[in-house]
Amino acid sequence: MIRVAVNGYGTIGKRVADAVAAQKDMKIVGVSKTRPNAEAFVAKQRGYPLFIADMSKKAAFEKAGLIVAGSVEDMCRLADVVVDATPGKIGATNKSLYEKLGVRAVWQGGEEHELAGFSFNSSCNYKDAIGKKFARVVSCNTTGLCRIINAIDKEYDVEHVHAIMIRRGGDPSDIKRGPIDAIVLDPVTVPSHHGPDVQTVLPHISITTMALIVPTTMMHMHAVKITTKKELSHEKVVDLINRHPRMGLIKKSLGIKSTAELKEYAMDLGRQRSDVIENCIFEESIYVNKNELCFFQGIHQEADVVVENVDVIRAMMGTEKDGEKSIKTTNDALGFSTIQHTH
Ligand code: NAD
Repeated sequence: MIRVAVNGYGTIGKRVADAVAAQKDMKIVGVSKTRPNAEAFVAKQRGYPLFIADMSKKAAFEKAGLIVAGSVEDMCRLADVVVDATPGKIGATNKSLYEKLGVRAVWQGGEEHELAGFSFNSSCNYKDAIGKKFARVVSCNTTGLCRIINAIDKEYDVEHVHAIMIRRGGDPSDIKRGPIDAIVLDPVTVPSHHGPDVQTVLPHISITTMALIVPTTMMHMHAVKITTKKELSHEKVVDLINRHPRMGLIKKSLGIKSTAELKEYAMDLGRQRSDVIENCIFEESIYVNKNELCFFQGIHQEADVVVENVDVIRAMMGTEKDGEKSIKTTNDALGFSTIQHTH
């Protein structure tokens, strides 16, 4: 059993904890919170030992009826791997603790690549993660881009990618984020950071990205254009997406053309937290003309990186050397199969 601690039990951390707990080869030794809130009660309900970042807050947790198992340091001592899902840039401040304790650590996309020195995506560079002490699972947008770009690149040699990210303003529970009534260029300058971030996983890919933020919490939407060195086949591109364990096809028969309908469908399917783990590529949007490919894909920011965190743990521990097998193990344990199998 691989012993996993989740430092930062928030949007990503609570999902990673459940995904880890569902695996036969892993167990959760603890999760951490900074203050006693609803998520802390969810951890209690799930039976995850609760550790806290600041021991001076112990009385406040206990007063709320939450048992404190110890400090974050105590938690990390129990673990083989710590998944750090604290807010962006906070994770970096924990590195010295992980180094001191000699524990493996996985950071999220809110941290810089240089912090871990290695950025991860299960479908692209699983083998490179084997035995690593530190890794960073790239952000939700980068994960979605890496999956599809790598698949197309392996088959057709990517010449250049141009992607526009229409991003959600905040997560559904983020009451302080916006915009409420604006389309915000974020950043105004081109390229956005997403292209260079893709290159932390796929350094040879030529890519330009642009990004803007809109008033929605559901998902991101990408408009992607890829040019290739080899001539593309529409049928084969559809087949390649269809066979990928983490890429979904939204077919015409579903009648879905928005993120809102996608999330509703995931909810109706009974998926936990209505999570959409896979890239949702709209089949009708797939346009192929010789060496040019265009499509739209929806990316659920809270969900797509979760399964990648599970795989990177296995790779770092060296208990599974084959990326495809790990992806299958992770997906199966979650009862997850891609969305095209539902319609
Ligand atoms: P979040 O704010 O929802 O959760 C962070 C959790 O960490 C909270 O529970 C908070 O109480 C806790 N925390 C804060 N400081 C802490 C500390 N010093 N020690 C321990 N716990 C602490 O954040 P999130 O959205 O889950 O983001 C976490 C990371 O995942 C960031 O790097 C972010 O960029 C990345 N990420 C987020 C999303 C997303 O859409 N939310 C998607 C992909 C990647």
